[in-house]
Amino acid sequence: MSDSSTMLDAVAYVAEAQAVLEAATSLLSIDDVESNFLGKKSGLALAHRTLGQLDPEQRKTYGAVLYGIRQELEGLIAGRREVVAEIERSAALKADQLDLTEVIPGLVSTVVRRGHQHLISQTQAELEDVFVGMGFTVADGPEVETDWFNFEALNIPPAHPARGMWDTFYLELGDPETVVLRTHTSPVQIHLMEEAVAQNALPIHAVMPGRCFRRDTPDARHLHTFHQIEGLVIDEAIAFTDLAGVIQTFTTAYFGPDISSRLRPAFFPFTEPSAEFEITCTICHGGGCRTCSQTGWIELGGCGMVDPAVLSAVGIDPERYQGFAFGFGIDRCAQMRHQIADMRALVENDLRFIEQF
Ligand SMILES: [Zn+2]
Repeated sequence: MSDSSTMLDAVAYVAEAQAVLEAATSLLSIDDVESNFLGKKSGLALAHRTLGQLDPEQRKTYGAVLYGIRQELEGLIAGRREVVAEIERSAALKADQLDLTEVIPGLVSTVVRRGHQHLISQTQAELEDVFVGMGFTVADGPEVETDWFNFEALNIPPAHPARGMWDTFYLELGDPETVVLRTHTSPVQIHLMEEAVAQNALPIHAVMPGRCFRRDTPDARHLHTFHQIEGLVIDEAIAFTDLAGVIQTFTTAYFGPDISSRLRPAFFPFTEPSAEFEITCTICHGGGCRTCSQTGWIELGGCGMVDPAVLSAVGIDPERYQGFAFGFGIDRCAQMRHQIADMRALVENDLRFIEQF
């Protein structure tokens, strides 16, 4: 066996093992390769058994060659095992993924479209931020009210002509025409004042956003279900100039520095004196256009000093406390700031509109 022709061809042996190894795509087939090329019946093992027949010098050289082959093959096999193990792992993970389209009939797998807050919710949040920044708290109240909270406590007794200002939805609860969908957020003022009196927690600096309802036929500037935000301040030594200052601060904070505000005398049953407040037309910035009827101003809301009769009705001493209130439409704010021609777009849920904001 000293004939070199019977010796294992190291290069060919390794090359053959390498080729078979590369074709092996499972850990089991790699085990086979290992057994065939390094195992007890492998060519390498047989070659080892011939070592004893060689003379010492040849044995040393050939032994080293065989040892080199073993080392190289062990390295190749270990490397291939890692690669195939990784492939098998990710295949198993993929197989484990739950395909809901197979589990729930009718659920179509598509790219999920992410939603976002509706423009009205965004506007409400921004308005709340502006007022919180001015030191107001945010209060909430029920959308269904008794006649007393919605009208009487606000100085609007039954049969008062001012009730004609609000076309009211009545609910069939209790006596006829005693339970209403609130026509404004003002009843929350009454709740707040009553709580403050009961808990001896005056003064009040609060804003009250929320949904309101009126029997209006929807058009470009009206909705039967709309959103208002209302503010109430009850404190000592409060004057009309404080009200004007709050309106101006809010206007600049929400609409920007080029938009200003002004007050015009008006009538509301629960405030005296009362005013409508207008802001610079956001379309023409005061120059005059069709939207503002060439005046350069757009009406935004109503405000005034809280009528002492309203304070008395909830048990607040009007000799000691004064207050002011203001309210305006959240939808109207969004309409003006984003120059939305028709307010009905806010509730039609047309994605082409919604995705613009
Ligand atoms: Zn204008």
